[in-house]
Amino acid sequence: PRREKSLDDALQQARLAVGGELGAGAFATVHLVRRQPDGERFALKLVDKARTPHDVMQRELHVLRVIGQHQHVVSMVDFLETPNAWGVLLDLVTGGEVFERICADGAFSEQDAAALVRQVALALKHVHAAGVCHRDLKPENLLLCSPEHDAKVKLCDFGLAAFYGEGHPPMEGRSGTVGYMAPEQLRGLPYGPEVDLWAVGVILYILLSGFHPFDPDGSADDDALVANVLAHKVDFTDECWRHVSAGARDVICGLLHPDPSQRTTADQLLSSPWVCGHAAATPLPG
Ligand code: ADP
Ligand code: MG
Repeated sequence: PRREKSLDDALQQARLAVGGELGAGAFATVHLVRRQPDGERFALKLVDKARTPHDVMQRELHVLRVIGQHQHVVSMVDFLETPNAWGVLLDLVTGGEVFERICADGAFSEQDAAALVRQVALALKHVHAAGVCHRDLKPENLLLCSPEHDAKVKLCDFGLAAFYGEGHPPMEGRSGTVGYMAPEQLRGLPYGPEVDLWAVGVILYILLSGFHPFDPDGSADDDALVANVLAHKVDFTDECWRHVSAGARDVICGLLHPDPSQRTTADQLLSSPWVCGHAAATPLPG
């Protein structure tokens, strides 16, 4: 489809030249852009106004401003608006999604998985300290800074994020992607930032096995997924787990704890022997 004229005008005014598409999610398409004066490259997230209410976009922008810059978070550089779309200028990462990496290479080694989880935990620590819950953690929203094997990881997509704590309405209701939602969220209970750690547990399970803990053969629909999560059907019986350390499985169980008050926190994750032990074995970026 041809771009609206006003978008071209806005891009020209911002002195941005548009290149190819970097990715797309449920709400946005993201393009590579080059800032003409200095040639620096960024990612431009274009959000269609017809599909995203104004207050939802405002919240994402507010969240991005509050979070600011962090080595493991994709940060906002600028913002533009046209009659039909919003454009969020983001710092660029060029290694693609962790999702694509899993599809291409299969399961991660424990060492690589620990390095990734450590970086996600650092991102979450920062985000939660700012009073923000991400609420849509999944391999599609974890981006690699470069195509290198040991590329740094950044958390992106604050489109479903919410402020929590004093002065904010309690978080409740389903928000995110069913396969990564914590049981308290699926039950419709008020919930806290622990839901993000649950999602890290699902992600870690996938990284180490190549399949989803609550949908091992990839055939479950949303209702079946919900039923499996609520029944807490997570097991390590598949052959592949025979080659995974007990330490890694313990970390997964701590993250996939059905009781949010007992679930591993970002700080506990960062100091867990498995994350420290394996992560320390390779020089970590940052
Ligand atoms: P949505 O809300 O539609 O899911 P995202 O913010 O997740 O939008 O962006 C969609 C996809 O675009 C991401 O999954 C990723 O592939 C790509 N993308 C997003 N931000 C960047 C970025 N800063 N650099 C490179 N690619 C990005
Ligand atoms: Mg997304």
